[in-house]
Amino acid sequence: MQPITYSRVTDPATAVAAVSADPTSDFLAGGTTEIDLLRQNVLHPRRLVDINHLPLTGIEPTREGGLRIGALARMSEVAASPVVRERFPLICQALELGASAQLRHMASMGGNLLQRVRCSYYRDARSPCNKRDPGTGCSALDGFSRGHAVLGTSRHCIATHPSDVAVALMAVDARVHTLAPDGERAYAFEDFFLLPDDSPHREHPMEHGELITAIEVPAMPVARRSLYLKVRDRESYEFALVSVAAALSLVNGTVADIRVALGGVATKPWRAQRVEDFMIGAPANRVNFAQAALAELAAARPTPMNAFKVELAQRAIVRALETLTDDGTGSPA
Ligand SMILES: Cc1cc2nc3c(=O)[nH]c(=O)nc-3n(C[C@H](O)[C@H](O)[C@H](O)COP(=O)(O)OP(=O)(O)OC[C@H]3O[C@@H](n4cnc5c(N)ncnc54)[C@H](O)[C@@H]3O)c2cc1C
Ligand code: SF4
Repeated sequence: MQPITYSRVTDPATAVAAVSADPTSDFLAGGTTEIDLLRQNVLHPRRLVDINHLPLTGIEPTREGGLRIGALARMSEVAASPVVRERFPLICQALELGASAQLRHMASMGGNLLQRVRCSYYRDARSPCNKRDPGTGCSALDGFSRGHAVLGTSRHCIATHPSDVAVALMAVDARVHTLAPDGERAYAFEDFFLLPDDSPHREHPMEHGELITAIEVPAMPVARRSLYLKVRDRESYEFALVSVAAALSLVNGTVADIRVALGGVATKPWRAQRVEDFMIGAPANRVNFAQAALAELAAARPTPMNAFKVELAQRAIVRALETLTDDGTGSPA
């Protein structure tokens, strides 16, 4: 067993200086990913810098109607926040449908965005895996791929991005704020998660030692009428086979505003741009929802084992949008 140095920091600049100066170090937040993977011999940090005492736990409404969520706010705190529940129901639902109550009390929002894939080959240190050991190959391509991605895949990696709340945040145009050694940065959510292409080990654009400080959610009135639908093999404590984060508003039965993102089917939280483009200005009915879903999944590249996800995702999109229009008004309840 390899010895690990542990240190605790109380201000963000010291945290960034400590980790960026040492390539063998990692931040430690709730530890529900980091410690898991350390035990499984997948991550090998020699030094853990505990960031749990940084002042990054706030959940603040902005005057414009958005939110600023500290990177160390716990999943359970964000899910229970009245202002998040009122302004962004899809974020609360995505959090409540993730992991277990105990994990949600430990796990931080920043750590959630950076959790690692659930591909069993990635987590088995003896299996070839381009994400864990670049250049060794992808065991899932000809292996067990039932839970893997059908969108955004490459011939180097087909692992699904596992986060639920990242899907909801993708739908509402969130931004990730960070502190890097040379100062503060901000990333649009769309740019924060990288497709695997030929470098699946690079999952985000941050440099080593860059610290997520906050997640900013812009004001978005349409999100008051929103939901997160999660389809999984069992009803709790399970990752998504398919998930849909959706928000919708109608004027006279026509879609005036719409946001949709998908989880469980893609290598990153997937903004369903084709659904949005198809539905904006169109009558909100089942036929159109199904056409929009078909257009979104047209680019799917499934394996024989996960081909069922294509139809499942289409059906989930239709169900989410039908649920949002169920009362026939599509306006905030
Ligand atoms: C059994 C189980 C079931 C789960 N089910 C679900 C589920 O259904 N849905 C879901 O979405 N998630 C699920 N998860 C994942 C869980 O939500 C994540 O493990 C958790 O959110 C990670 O947060 P953490 O604070 O524990 O991060 P840590 O484990 O402390 O850190 C994770 C990674 O992020 C880095 N890091 C942490 N904070 C920062 C920061 N502020 N800036 C820069 N880097 C940082 C760490 O160095 C580490 O590499 C599950 C986990 C387990 C173990
Ligand atoms: S799908 Fe990605 S994470 Fe899984 S074995 Fe292939 S390269 Fe590794």
